[in-house]
Amino acid sequence: MNRQEILAHYRGNPDISVLVIGAGINGIGTFRDLALQGVEVLLVDRADFASGASMASSHMLHGGIRYLENAEFRLVREALTERNLMLKNAPHYAKPLPTTIPIFKWFSGMFNAPLKFLNLRDKPAERGGIVIKLGLILYDIFASRYRVMPTHKLRLRGSALQKFPKMNPDIVCAATYYDSWMPTPERICIDLIDDTEQLSNDAHALNYVSAVDGGDGKVTLRDELTGDTLDVRPKVVVNAGGPWIDFVNRDLGKETRFIGGTKGSHLILDNPELHEAINGNEVFFENNDGRIVLILPFMGKVMIGTTDIRIEDPDDAITNQEEIDYFMTMCRRVFPSIEVDPSQIVFHFSGVRPLPASDKSYTGNVSRDHSIRPVEAAESGMGYPVLSLVGGKWTSFRAFSEQTTDEVLSRLGRPRRGSTVDMAIGGGKDYPQTESAQARWVEEISQKTGLSVDHIRTLFDRYGTRAEEFATFMIDGDDRPINGLSAFTMREIVHLIRREKAVHIDDLVLRRSLIAWLGDLSDEVFADLADIMAEELDWSSEQKDMEIARAAEILGARHGVEVRAPSHSV
Ligand SMILES: Cc1cc2nc3c(=O)[nH]c(=O)nc-3n(C[C@H](O)[C@H](O)[C@H](O)COP(=O)(O)OP(=O)(O)OC[C@H]3O[C@@H](n4cnc5c(N)ncnc54)[C@H](O)[C@@H]3O)c2cc1C
Repeated sequence: MNRQEILAHYRGNPDISVLVIGAGINGIGTFRDLALQGVEVLLVDRADFASGASMASSHMLHGGIRYLENAEFRLVREALTERNLMLKNAPHYAKPLPTTIPIFKWFSGMFNAPLKFLNLRDKPAERGGIVIKLGLILYDIFASRYRVMPTHKLRLRGSALQKFPKMNPDIVCAATYYDSWMPTPERICIDLIDDTEQLSNDAHALNYVSAVDGGDGKVTLRDELTGDTLDVRPKVVVNAGGPWIDFVNRDLGKETRFIGGTKGSHLILDNPELHEAINGNEVFFENNDGRIVLILPFMGKVMIGTTDIRIEDPDDAITNQEEIDYFMTMCRRVFPSIEVDPSQIVFHFSGVRPLPASDKSYTGNVSRDHSIRPVEAAESGMGYPVLSLVGGKWTSFRAFSEQTTDEVLSRLGRPRRGSTVDMAIGGGKDYPQTESAQARWVEEISQKTGLSVDHIRTLFDRYGTRAEEFATFMIDGDDRPINGLSAFTMREIVHLIRREKAVHIDDLVLRRSLIAWLGDLSDEVFADLADIMAEELDWSSEQKDMEIARAAEILGARHGVEVRAPSHSV
């Protein structure tokens, strides 16, 4: 069903089992798991899929070595298990990443963890080599379930500087361990939605539909594209509003204070020297006040993050100058001979962690674990229970979704039918594991479709085995390269619009592709994409101008990407 058909369906059939509000990774994961159990479920997001915290993460699939110090052993064990599952189930988007910690002292931070356990210290301190070594031994032990990557290694100064010649010579040693990362978390979200809608006729996802009101057993939804509203009558509501959870509950009719969000920003730099210096590793270190900094390779560019600053309204999260200056200083601390400056920034992004409300003075100490906070039907007068999904890591979304689904199933009095543990995600299905198997796969699809081996390889790297679906669509009509960006073609973009529900130009360049992230969005590319969208979505020339202005505003104000709107129309 297309968007209009889905909306019309619920207008005629407002009684539904579950409404999930918020299509970040936790809402999407719950949507998939509920659909797998045969539960009728509607997922809505007031903006695009994965446009909240889920597109603002540091892109790490990790256990979170530093949470060991906060004694969050359950979280670390669960996240490491989930990380390993992601490498298995989404091999097209989850990639191993060697992570190196430059260490400037041997003995610092020795008493930090014990004092924290005893609640005698709330402030962080820089950790030295001994503490980091102990932490990594523990991390290796926790990671042993479904082990897929090597254990850690400590290099003394000389050998570390041989591997990283531009690293600050003041280090005493460097430790390397393995974690993993996801270049395109937004695409994992899209794959999960696509999988779910293929899996069940009773599961539908709508972007740009807000939950605006509640009570008397109904939730009022507003189509943000038309302003029209409709009411649905769910048996259970899952509030997966991430940092907006308390705002959603307020709109439904119940004041809560579950969330104490913190803002985190990141930059993408075009700095080939820094890219070479990190040598394929994430470089992960602490400022001398204990704040975490990471520098990682990002598709030929370099990503730097992050900050951790309390914020009241998640809509206000935008990278500011102070953060940019801080990141520059941090880079220079570890790679003092490399020139870094703000002119190298091609993209920045900021988001809010949906952390539980807390009065801890140091935000880094607030638990990163997740919990389900119910508001019962009787308590709220809303006429349905609302389960709010507080906190959590991107990495552990599957486990959190499973726990939420179990809670919903018990309320609906239904049994669990299947598990997502071994479910491959999107283009991770039937993924060829070895390089030679991948080369054969690419060759085979190239022969089948007549597209060149290089072209299929590009599609494979972008979409995993869904490359075949893209290639099949692309040859089914006249195609041409995008003006100014030959790595993409017109029909590939059309497929992203039709199959993946891109509604605005910003959806396309921020979340269906990395075009804006990598500095590839020239005025020429922007103009061509606007033409294709206008044609595909049947925009009038006024609407097209509005869409161009909207995308230019979001890209400029939120991401530092300046694009000039082309002067008029299709
Ligand atoms: C700076 C930063 C770095 C991070 N780094 C990592 C990391 O490296 N690894 C890791 O594992 N985790 C990381 N995380 C944590 C992880 O990204 C989040 O915990 C996770 O993405 C939260 O997902 P969510 O679905 O709960 O929330 P969100 O992704 O924020 O989704 C909530 C959705 O609700 C929607 N919504 C709000 N109001 C309404 C309404 N009224 N109606 C309909 N929809 C509504 C929003 O539009 C939004 O899309 C990081 C987070 C941040 C912010």
